Amino acid sequence: MFTKLLIANRGEIACRIIRTARRMGLRTIAVHSDADANAQHVAMADVAHRIGPAAPRDSYLRIEAILEAARISGAQAIHPGYGFLSENAAFAEACAAAGLIFVGPPPAAIRAMGGKSQAKALMAEAGVPLVPGYHGEAQDLPTLQSAADSIGYPVLIKASAGGGGKGMRVVESATDFPAALEGAQREARSSFGDDRVLVEKYLTRPRHIEIQVFADTHGNTVSLFERDCSIQRRHQKIIEEAPAPGMTTTMRHAMGEAAIAAARAVNYVGAGTVEFIAEGDSFHFMEMNTRLQVEHPVTEAITGLDLVEWQLRIAAGEPLPLTQNQLGIQGHAIEVRLYAEDPARNFLPSVGTLSHLKLPEGIRIDSGVRPGDTITPDYDPMIAKLIVHAPDRRAALARLSQALAQTEVVGVQTNLPLLRALATHPAFAGGTFDTGLIARHPELLDGTATTPDLALAAAALTILNTRSQSAIIPGDPHSPWSAQDSWRPNLPGHQTLFLRHQGETTEITAHPAPNGGWYLEWDSIQHTAHHDAASLYRLDGTAARATVIAAPPRLTAVLDGANHIIEEIDPHAPPEAASAGAGRVISPIPGRVARLLVQQGDTVAKGQTLLVLEAMKMELPLTAAAPGTVAALRCAEGEMVAEGIELVLLDPA
Ligand code: ADP
Repeated sequence: MFTKLLIANRGEIACRIIRTARRMGLRTIAVHSDADANAQHVAMADVAHRIGPAAPRDSYLRIEAILEAARISGAQAIHPGYGFLSENAAFAEACAAAGLIFVGPPPAAIRAMGGKSQAKALMAEAGVPLVPGYHGEAQDLPTLQSAADSIGYPVLIKASAGGGGKGMRVVESATDFPAALEGAQREARSSFGDDRVLVEKYLTRPRHIEIQVFADTHGNTVSLFERDCSIQRRHQKIIEEAPAPGMTTTMRHAMGEAAIAAARAVNYVGAGTVEFIAEGDSFHFMEMNTRLQVEHPVTEAITGLDLVEWQLRIAAGEPLPLTQNQLGIQGHAIEVRLYAEDPARNFLPSVGTLSHLKLPEGIRIDSGVRPGDTITPDYDPMIAKLIVHAPDRRAALARLSQALAQTEVVGVQTNLPLLRALATHPAFAGGTFDTGLIARHPELLDGTATTPDLALAAAALTILNTRSQSAIIPGDPHSPWSAQDSWRPNLPGHQTLFLRHQGETTEITAHPAPNGGWYLEWDSIQHTAHHDAASLYRLDGTAARATVIAAPPRLTAVLDGANHIIEEIDPHAPPEAASAGAGRVISPIPGRVARLLVQQGDTVAKGQTLLVLEAMKMELPLTAAAPGTVAALRCAEGEMVAEGIELVLLDPA
């Protein structure tokens, strides 16, 4: 076994690899960009090397810089994690040329599975079942359109070089095909530098079931069973579980055999995942990921194995630690991905500083960020993976709900309310869902309904208690004149607060109550409120847990998994200029103006797309909130724009 391992990655996966490497007695070497100089993976590793500026192409994708870090640090092996260079055959070759062990499959296997089209051709030869479709070389519109016509609509256009759900378009009818093709090609070009696509039958109620395989250099290949990754948004996984609900022994065996055949067909070595799309008892090959997957922890949970340890042992030339019949499934595991993103805005990544982060205890958490860290537009916005493992699925779901209830994130928008709603949704709990579950249940995006009363009370108590504490610090603490609380000679003291929550302003009158509590009155109802302990609040005798993070005038009350953003309003402040807001189209996130679709003087309809912003490799159309005329353009096509910048000014009609 080698003794020094460089991890060519960042975030949770770098941290996760470091943990296993350390347990195995290896020295760990991290690499980092400028943005990650203080990141958790850097803090965890034995040594760390800077490899460039924040943008991945200038750091985590720079083969030369990574090899140089390996040379300086005396690394003998490189683990690429997932994403970045993990499926880059040229990188695997460069490692070999530099005398380094690449912890992954041989470059030829990466290449063979690299393009979805080419991989499908190979799999057809190996007898692995495919979705009906076209994966040929010719890429002109007439060829692709006639392929789509003969497959029959709906069809799915996919980037051959695709990944992460990018460059994918569902086409419902022949007339929509040309525009959808153009969109898929554009996204494919900008994300992968390769606009080749394939077309296949779009299955309407499929499940995503994948098989974890492992192969060694001694000719052994095993299946570590399946994972069901059908809970997706924008064709990207957010919940994965193992085993797949409703999986039969016969189907598991057939899928395992097909996956092993796929791996053997390309002389696979190491950890790999063969992804299938399944409908009923039939399943079809989608692609093979030639690396460790994000969702590998659920397989680790049910098999009791450490897949990174297996990867390292195989890379060192050892045989597979277990044979197929020594492998078994224990219990049920579910992983959820907690993302900094806004489900209400088509899951657009949300950037910001994690001013408060509380992750549940007692379950496995794979995370690469700490409170105070920043989610930047440069990298994947995943905050953490929460993994539960229990004797059966029902118990695992109960644990998951509990774990999510203990999770709190302030500073960015997250998919936490969606995850909580999913964990208890009958369609998910029933186990007969498919990849369309989230799209079919828009109510999931509303999050959990909570009463705003307690949030308001918790915010009011925080403001009131902070004031009375700060009042006794200067001068004579016992003098009533130095107090800034409600004390008035001969009058019952009271204070009035104006709190804005969900667009409504509430006037709250507060009188001190015995035992440090307050009588709070709003909407003509008097409440008794206490802040009992750190996160325990009591309103009219009902106790609840809430965490209030104050960044005056803004407070975030985290309650039942929902973040209530409350602002203290100064009633005497002049009203906001009426002109601001209405016609201004603001960039919601830093990005690049991919297309500008209007010109100054154009008349636009409500909902019309004005421009397309490309942010975090996604296309985000920005539309007119109301009909009007384009009064001014504040950006140009191709321009990089910061968050919160005015891009277009509309004169409302
Ligand atoms: P990527 O490499 O971008 O992740 P995949 O080929 O793995 O793309 O597909 C991602 C997801 O898209 C799948 O998990 C599935 O939900 C959906 N999908 C892919 N192919 C089909 C299909 N033929 N019919 C329906 N859904 C599909």
